[in-house]
Amino acid sequence: MTKIILFQAHPDDLEHKCGHLMHYLAIKSKKKYDIKIASMTKGEFGLPGPQYDKFKGEFLAKIRTRELFNAEKIHEIATENIDFLGYIDGFVPFNNDFINKIAEYLKNEKPDIIFAPEAIYSWYYHMDHINTGRAVFYVIYNKMIDFTPILYFYTSLYPNFSFGFKKKDIKTLTYKLIDCHKTQQWLLRYTMLPYRLFSRFAGRKLPGWKYAEPYRRVYFNKKNLYKNKQPLIVRIFSHFFSSLPWTKAKYPQNVMLDLKDIKGKK
Ligand SMILES: [Zn+2]
Repeated sequence: MTKIILFQAHPDDLEHKCGHLMHYLAIKSKKKYDIKIASMTKGEFGLPGPQYDKFKGEFLAKIRTRELFNAEKIHEIATENIDFLGYIDGFVPFNNDFINKIAEYLKNEKPDIIFAPEAIYSWYYHMDHINTGRAVFYVIYNKMIDFTPILYFYTSLYPNFSFGFKKKDIKTLTYKLIDCHKTQQWLLRYTMLPYRLFSRFAGRKLPGWKYAEPYRRVYFNKKNLYKNKQPLIVRIFSHFFSSLPWTKAKYPQNVMLDLKDIKGKK
């Protein structure tokens, strides 16, 4: 059975980005796939403003875990197929520990296909997301595991694969999924208009479909590496998004020395 792991930084990340593909893989494909979710954090700081400080931390983590479980029930993904990697919302690092943890996790799970947040050419530059994608990419690229899973990034600026869905699916699926995340409605209710526009835009070139979820497949085979190369405009936009003030990391991002250490140890 093909095993698929979807990585996310926060409990509600996948609903907009992969909801329709997940639903297809989990249910409509007649359960041909073994699907797991790996959530880096439990979203323990995901409320706006200091007036909610008393709920942040463990209490919010518990509620958001429950919300994630409820959303995954819609895809019939069992609770035991949802793993938390124990990081704190807003503080997903990109360092040796994190990279090794992802490597260990992948060694144990041996997925055939991985979905993760776009690490390089992203329009969603939340450091938790970026670092999650980066670590997954780093582990596969540097052969820290002895197999090469297929990697797809979501939130990519320049996708090369689309999964089509129907307009009515927004009502019957997307709304249902995001409604499960009650504590996130302050944010999620503003996302539906841009979501519709983006998915309509993504679907414009997909024959037979009007709406789509866009992904970028990343290649690791030497022969195909050129396919990862992005047009200049995409590189300029990525640079712009990555230099916005709120991307300044809370964790030291200057880990090039650490990374050399890892390589040296191999
Ligand atoms: Zn997120």
